[in-house]
Amino acid sequence: MPDYMFLLESRLLPEQRAALLRVQELSAAMGFNVYLTGGTVRDLITGASLRDLDFTVEGNPSKIARELEKGGAKVLAEDEKLRHVEILFSGDCEGSIAAARDDHYVRPGTRPEIRWSTIMEDLRRRDFSLNAIAISLNPASRGLLLDPTNGLSDVERAEVRALIIHSFTNQPVRLLRVLRFAARMGFKLEQRTQEWFDLAIERDLHHTITPEDAGTELRSLAREENPAAILKSWEEHDLLETVHPMLAKKHLDLDSVNRLSKVRDDLFMAGLRPRLATPMMLAILGRLKDREQGSLLHKLGFRAAEVDQILSFEEEAHAAGKELAGKKLAAPIDSYRFLEKMRTDILAHLLAFSSNSTAVSKIRAYLNKWRPLRQGIPAIVNELTAMGMPPGPKFDAVVDQVFAMQMTGRGKTPEERVKILRKLSGIKEPPKPKETKGKEKKHAGKIVGKAAPLPAGKAAAPPAKIAAAPAKAHKAAAPAKVEKKKKKK
Ligand code: ATP
Ligand code: MG
Repeated sequence: MPDYMFLLESRLLPEQRAALLRVQELSAAMGFNVYLTGGTVRDLITGASLRDLDFTVEGNPSKIARELEKGGAKVLAEDEKLRHVEILFSGDCEGSIAAARDDHYVRPGTRPEIRWSTIMEDLRRRDFSLNAIAISLNPASRGLLLDPTNGLSDVERAEVRALIIHSFTNQPVRLLRVLRFAARMGFKLEQRTQEWFDLAIERDLHHTITPEDAGTELRSLAREENPAAILKSWEEHDLLETVHPMLAKKHLDLDSVNRLSKVRDDLFMAGLRPRLATPMMLAILGRLKDREQGSLLHKLGFRAAEVDQILSFEEEAHAAGKELAGKKLAAPIDSYRFLEKMRTDILAHLLAFSSNSTAVSKIRAYLNKWRPLRQGIPAIVNELTAMGMPPGPKFDAVVDQVFAMQMTGRGKTPEERVKILRKLSGIKEPPKPKETKGKEKKHAGKIVGKAAPLPAGKAAAPPAKIAAAPAKAHKAAAPAKVEKKKKKK
């Protein structure tokens, strides 16, 4: 059996690891059992990227959320009835904490009665076997995999399997979900699940999906890496109109959706982690007029602030593009600073759709040249330190100046860079062996012979100390001569 804790820890980003440890620690202190569940475990097993952390506690998640808030986490949404908290952990990492519960249906298709439960009951009430796996985070069983419905073997078979015959009757939104997971993962529906799916469609159950549930699915769709495949699958199964008739009527603009997905890949390659839900939602709704987009989103239960954010996004991106291409940001270093602060969703939107060629080429330069160049900064810092420049504001300014020069194509070779560094820092080149020019060089020569110049501020140190450092420098700088002298002796 694989070591799931090792697998988990090797796959988490540092901020996700910190969030996991904190939740684990708080749960232990409060006496709650805690598990990693749902999409996180599925994605871990299938090797997909871990977008968010879903925790389930046998206890009250609000108590944990309150403590996390003290450490800088933000609660995005809290459903007290369901004891479900959507949270942005400190370090900007998304996730959720929910109480373990059982949904009890008096009759199939009725509103379920909620009962707080153990993790095993919670896993069994879930939608599909691949979503019903947990990893224990409790001290006595840390890393233990809980898989009461055999989800692991369905993952191996590449199948999405609904857990009970009434799955779609109980929650018709699972008709959208099952296609979403199948399309996302390239899985097929397990044979009986397919039969239950077909039967549900025959009985028109898809027309009973509530607008709020459809809205939740649309929100999840916009966060997907490849929404086009899912949209196609919904369209092929005539389910687009159940999300909203207008979506089905105005043919989808899959080109735009694909273009944004491609840009997401490019940004990942450049080392950024973009969150593209807003521009992706706009691309999905692309063929609708502004007024129609607003009314659709309201109808599907999006909050007013969310709708505003989506509808004002294009204008915001356009303004950012204009500023980026403007005269004030003509110098590459100023554009770099601006782009460094630009939200990644705006950056992605401009890259995918903007006709502002200056802005787009600056974004490309930022991703493909400037950011890689910036990664060379530690080397510059080392070089400057080796020259003897003490840390401080002047040091930082020199580093920035060198970076700015490199952006314009200067200082590419090490020799050229050293020259620039010396000029900007004011630190002179070490004297050549026979050179006696300059006061400082003469002074250094008197004490230690052929030596590197002293770091700033060390001039008044006692001779013994001064002698020690340059002696080393001398050895390293001219080993051949030292060898010769020894031979003569
Ligand atoms: P994603 O990667 O899209 O976040 P996810 O599986 O985490 O995928 P969520 O919508 O975040 O999906 O739900 C978290 C978990 O809650 C799911 O994995 C599933 O176990 C359970 N769940 C969500 N919606 C339903 C539902 N309608 N019926 C049963 N279980 C559900
Ligand atoms: Mg999730």
